[in-house]
Amino acid sequence: MPFGGLGEIGMNCLAIVQDNDALVVDCGISFDSRGLGVDIICPKFEALGALNVVGVFLTHGHEDHIGALPYFLRSFDVPIWGTAYTVGLVRQRRDEHEVLEYARLHTVVPRDRITVGPFDVEPIRVTHSIADATALAIRTKIGTVIHTGDFKFDETPPDEEYFDEARLSELGDEGVALLMSDSTNVDTLVPVGSEAGVGIALEPIVRATKGAVIVAQFASNVHRLKMLGDIALKTDRNLFLFGRSLQKHARVGRDTGYLKWPSSLVLPNDQASSLDKSRVLAIASGTQAEANAALSRLARDDYPLLKLNELDAVVMSARIIPGNEPEVFNILNQFLRRQIAVHTWLTDRGVHVSGHASRPEQQRMLELVRPRAFIPLHGTLHHLRSHADVAKKAGVPHTTVLENGDMATVYEDNAAITIRRTPRAFAAGKRYFLATHEVPDAVLREREQLAREGLIVMIARIDDDRLLMGPIDINFRGIAVDDLAGDLREAITREATEALKAMPTELCTPGTISDVLRQAARRAASALLGHKPEVLVRLRA
Ligand SMILES: [Zn+2]
Ligand SMILES: [Zn+2]
Repeated sequence: MPFGGLGEIGMNCLAIVQDNDALVVDCGISFDSRGLGVDIICPKFEALGALNVVGVFLTHGHEDHIGALPYFLRSFDVPIWGTAYTVGLVRQRRDEHEVLEYARLHTVVPRDRITVGPFDVEPIRVTHSIADATALAIRTKIGTVIHTGDFKFDETPPDEEYFDEARLSELGDEGVALLMSDSTNVDTLVPVGSEAGVGIALEPIVRATKGAVIVAQFASNVHRLKMLGDIALKTDRNLFLFGRSLQKHARVGRDTGYLKWPSSLVLPNDQASSLDKSRVLAIASGTQAEANAALSRLARDDYPLLKLNELDAVVMSARIIPGNEPEVFNILNQFLRRQIAVHTWLTDRGVHVSGHASRPEQQRMLELVRPRAFIPLHGTLHHLRSHADVAKKAGVPHTTVLENGDMATVYEDNAAITIRRTPRAFAAGKRYFLATHEVPDAVLREREQLAREGLIVMIARIDDDRLLMGPIDINFRGIAVDDLAGDLREAITREATEALKAMPTELCTPGTISDVLRQAARRAASALLGHKPEVLVRLRA
């Protein structure tokens, strides 16, 4: 039962159900780019209410896999398993989400076998753009189910935690009933490359820069943090972490042993401006041009801890999430305008690699596991369909493409596995949150409407006979009235006065009068501006 992540990228969450017991795999969020003031989006979990949820297993610590846990735990008090780095990241949230204070978090290591209700779950080491990522082998009544989590085949992982291909191949030999695998990069036809290659691309840039070097990256990429630490040591620079999320990830990286940094390497941010610039290597958050993040502020020259000039360099070691391109390029423009060198994947190919398997790597996963049935995960419908085709070509007898709210039932019949899809089996959906508060759908619709059309505020005084006293006070917000403002006020007043006159006295109540004024304003605005703004009416006696 997928609750998120199928038919979209982000918000990964699905349940594996046997009889009435449900094991939840991952519990992620996605982000809203509509500019409506929503911080996060998380799945609706109502359909789980009818089942006995036995626990949550996390594949790795990316937001799109763990971010919804605090919201999930409000309704389901169940134990959670994950690797040390993953659980460390969940624990970091305790100051933001009280519910995590009481969460039953369990740390697992790859190849451990954990009993969760009727399931037996074994995490298997995979490589990805975050440390301590795993696939899961889940033993069920119909055989072994493998969920890959997010992965790529990185032959030289910076943390030297190698992909456990041997274990996947062993499980393949034993027989795997169902494989569910990461579809994100199905359109990429060459291997995406190692994280170590990014270090190799970054070092000469750091060496060649006379002044400070700012590297913008996703805070969660601890491999890159580690490599930048190594580069800083080799080039006699100190490391600065510009951004709360970076500091959080670095803390978890140190606590779990991934970042073995000498204590003198990272300096407090307020020392950045006093240090010689040739000794500054700063890692900045805000790769997607988030307005308050360090990178945007450095671009605007509005970052009090460091001012950049033409001897300095900025490196974008991240991809742009589709939709954010104009804002990100705008930031790069701001640096370029000030003669600051900008290195991106466009100028220096190697400064970023994806964390997700390309098509040849997806094929390699299918060859290792040799499943009897296949469900593609982690992608839009296009990615999922293409990945299903890859599996069919690889000889997998049964493939099914699901979207959130669909359900697949896997049967064992005379030792043969079959799979059946039930479209729209349950109500999947999204919930929107601003920090920890939920924003109802109706409020979002209102915000969308206000953003599109603007607002007219009318304040009118009425006497005991419900007659208009004096002029109506009319204000505009977010409406391009310019020199039409006077005309529009006049037109609204005229429409309103006529409409009130035409109304039988016995029908006049504050409610009907407000309604008539609202309709009058919308008619007048529509005639003059060509659209109908929202109207707020206040009546005073
Ligand atoms: Zn993911
Ligand atoms: Zn991931």
